[in-house]
Amino acid sequence: MSSERNPIVVMKFGGTSVGEVSRIKHVAEIVREHREKHPNVGVIVVLSAMAGETNKLVALAKSCVDRPNPREMDVLLASGEQITIALLAMRLIEGGIPAKSLLAQQAQISTTSDHTNALIESIDARQLVSLVDQGIVPVVAGFQGIDEQGDITTLGRGGSDITAVAIAAAVKAQTCFIYTDVPGVFSTDPRTCKSARLLERVCHEEMLEMASLGAKVLHTRSVYFAMRYQVPLVVLSTFEGPCNPGVNGTWIVSEDELMEKPVVTGVTYRTDEARIVVEGMSADIGKMSRLFSELSDKGIFIDMISQESVESGAVNVSVTVPDESSLVALETFQAIVEEVGALGVKIDRDIAKVSVVGIGMKYHTGVAARVFEALARERIGVTMINTSEIKMSVLVPRKYCEVAVRVLHDEFTEFNVTTGEER
Ligand code: ADP
Ligand code: ASP
Ligand code: MG
Repeated sequence: MSSERNPIVVMKFGGTSVGEVSRIKHVAEIVREHREKHPNVGVIVVLSAMAGETNKLVALAKSCVDRPNPREMDVLLASGEQITIALLAMRLIEGGIPAKSLLAQQAQISTTSDHTNALIESIDARQLVSLVDQGIVPVVAGFQGIDEQGDITTLGRGGSDITAVAIAAAVKAQTCFIYTDVPGVFSTDPRTCKSARLLERVCHEEMLEMASLGAKVLHTRSVYFAMRYQVPLVVLSTFEGPCNPGVNGTWIVSEDELMEKPVVTGVTYRTDEARIVVEGMSADIGKMSRLFSELSDKGIFIDMISQESVESGAVNVSVTVPDESSLVALETFQAIVEEVGALGVKIDRDIAKVSVVGIGMKYHTGVAARVFEALARERIGVTMINTSEIKMSVLVPRKYCEVAVRVLHDEFTEFNVTTGEER
């Protein structure tokens, strides 16, 4: 792929940014301002549904049936974005800016058929580029795609970020702007920790880890697209500061564009997993492998694994799995408990996974020691641990989640701050 870029920018606005009519009018002003400042640059807009709308649709389906059919679920879920794109397009048109709303089928966003969690396979950018060439602003529905059968699909919760970055890659946009309800990517969730700091730059690898470990400000797969297709990507506020991008916000860059490599760039947390413990089983590798092949046959993703020796040469084996598959995982283990010679199986949902992420971990030692010291000061016990080259995750009781985030955030103070101001 040539690295030459077209004079096009993609602007994505999340649910809060289009959550009310007054905000949709504000988004139209941001688009107008950009066009006036950069008359030779085309704008493609990608929108989410209004904040809370997709949740309402999920609840509606669950109030109607126990197990919504995935294909029909996607038809339902995709409807939220149809409303916002139409409203913004009509607002732009009334304000004298040519615009056209486009559903996934019209924007030619092809995906796999994995309903509710489809993957973008390709985007035929010709239609989008042709509209831009005519001076029209395409306003594209985020989060949705179309599969080989022509059925509507959705990309997973928070998936509008993926639509935006994938379109930016397909049209070879100069920049993809992710406008949201906070001024950028912070050293931790600014809603949980008041001393969170705005980061000026975060590298792809860090952002991938932070997103998958709980920083929902960007969807993990959007970061993957940005990295793979070298899409210049910035996260910024819809509501604060001038809309002149490049001044504000957080740039997601390649590692070699980072001036400094702090040991820890971000602290994240997730509370949407459960821990399942198979107690007192014999430490036999064949039996162990049986446990894991059963889960894999059911398509269950395992996150953390640990094994702890207990009395009489037996072990307790623990795994964490996503909440939504935890019941199936529990039943799966219960069904083979005798076969693997275990005493029993138990489940613990009151857990939180807290992680520290930083590219600097590649070059520094001592992170684990500082993590344990900081948690020990608050008497927070750790039940499981997971590490990679640039992250360390610990499992703690859920009631200590916020405290753990705060102490770890305060422990690693050398964040790459933009302004140095505390929020
Ligand atoms: P949008 O609707 O614009 O897509 P999201 O709700 O998906 O917005 O993501 C923005 C939210 O992500 C913020 O309101 C913030 O609470 C949360 N968040 C979690 N971790 C971080 C972080 N490290 N930096 C910034 N925001 C974060
Ligand atoms: N509306 C979808 C959701 O709430 C997609 C998105 O907002 O990115 O998950
Ligand atoms: Mg989002």
